[in-house]
Amino acid sequence: MRTQVVIIGAGPAGLLLGQLLHKHSIANVILERQTADHVLGRVRAGVIEQVTMNLLDEAGVGARMHADGLVHEGVQICVDGTRHRLSFKELTGKTVMVYGQTEITKDLMDGRAAVGAPSVYSAQDVSAHDISGDKPRVSYQVEGNTHEISCDFVAGCDGFHGISRKSIPESAIDTYERVYPLGWLGVLSDTPPVSEELIYVRHPRGFALCSMRTPTRSRYYIQCSLAEDIESWPDERFWQELKPRLDEEARERLVTGPSIEKSIAPLRSFVAEPMRFGRLFLAGDAAHIVPPTGAKGLNLAASDVRYLARALVEHYQERSDAGLDHYSERALARVWKAERFSWWMTTTLHKISDNPFDYRLQLAELDYLFRSKAAATAFAENYVGLPY
Ligand SMILES: Cc1cc2nc3c(=O)[nH]c(=O)nc-3n(C[C@H](O)[C@H](O)[C@H](O)COP(=O)(O)OP(=O)(O)OC[C@H]3O[C@@H](n4cnc5c(N)ncnc54)[C@H](O)[C@@H]3O)c2cc1C
Repeated sequence: MRTQVVIIGAGPAGLLLGQLLHKHSIANVILERQTADHVLGRVRAGVIEQVTMNLLDEAGVGARMHADGLVHEGVQICVDGTRHRLSFKELTGKTVMVYGQTEITKDLMDGRAAVGAPSVYSAQDVSAHDISGDKPRVSYQVEGNTHEISCDFVAGCDGFHGISRKSIPESAIDTYERVYPLGWLGVLSDTPPVSEELIYVRHPRGFALCSMRTPTRSRYYIQCSLAEDIESWPDERFWQELKPRLDEEARERLVTGPSIEKSIAPLRSFVAEPMRFGRLFLAGDAAHIVPPTGAKGLNLAASDVRYLARALVEHYQERSDAGLDHYSERALARVWKAERFSWWMTTTLHKISDNPFDYRLQLAELDYLFRSKAAATAFAENYVGLPY
């Protein structure tokens, strides 16, 4: 079998890349280790930048997002019981969209099915071969039978634990990492959100986030220790721990109910560079991870894909490799700024140590953010997404 681009991974990065390439008549095959249902069942991101919305429109899959997504013009930050609002709209003229990653994945999968582009789910032992030469190949197994696809390029969109990054010789890649000693315990529930806007909470008991997916479905997170066992968090205990972290109005408005999903996510910052080795290009979580506090992971995956799709179109339609040669550098310039912002939000809003000095610094940062228009504008510019 032969194609132009083999895409490893059917997360947002792989599916979006496949859709954009298809629009430009570039043949591609997606290889995904899990079943489609498993991929659709992963509850993750929910806040979409304007530039990501534009890209989903460009890929032809934005209709449902515009119909069902919630446009947010601002965000609220609660510090030790007092809430403050920052208006993106007033500070930058831009907004963000609340629309779940599962919905985006579904729209992209439906879009791919509608155009009949090939995807192989439950592909086991996916391995990339000869990526440093001109004729790379990707092999995989389905139901015990080995298959091989020869191609021009391999797009490694297989997330942090995928095989793409690991296919690059260690001497050809540098990695930068910070692991935070804390996690997010998240609950999804069919209850009305406590507020129309997201509330980020800085509290002596630890961080919390009141988020939502729809007007009737809420997503809440509380900071927890990485040693926590999800089994020891029945719903009642979760709500009891969330409540005291909120301000009085939010506490009164909070509607609790049974969880429909509950999970613990570790917080990590990670960058691998360069994002290219020979004919293998990394995109999304395969190349970098941000802690979810800044809501940047999916958005960064989309911006990598935008650079990569344009570079591949340039290669095939204009016979120019300039875009491919500059892909890593361009993508990383945006990645590192999102790494900085996500690190800043994480270290400013979480209980990061028992040292009161850290706590006083956080209060000073936040006080400056609420009082200075320049600081608020810088925050808003980063939150809605920096320009490409
Ligand atoms: C709790 C939480 C909240 C978040 N909130 C936000 C948010 O609000 N906004 C935001 O922008 N981001 C958020 N993120 C981050 C976001 O979910 C990720 O950055 C995003 O999923 C990255 O997409 P991706 O396609 O690069 O990788 P993934 O979504 O990880 O997809 C990779 C795919 O590759 C597949 N794969 C892995 N290994 C192989 C293999 N060997 N062979 C074949 N396939 C393979 C996987 O099964 C998967 O389907 C959040 C993440 C978490 C955990």
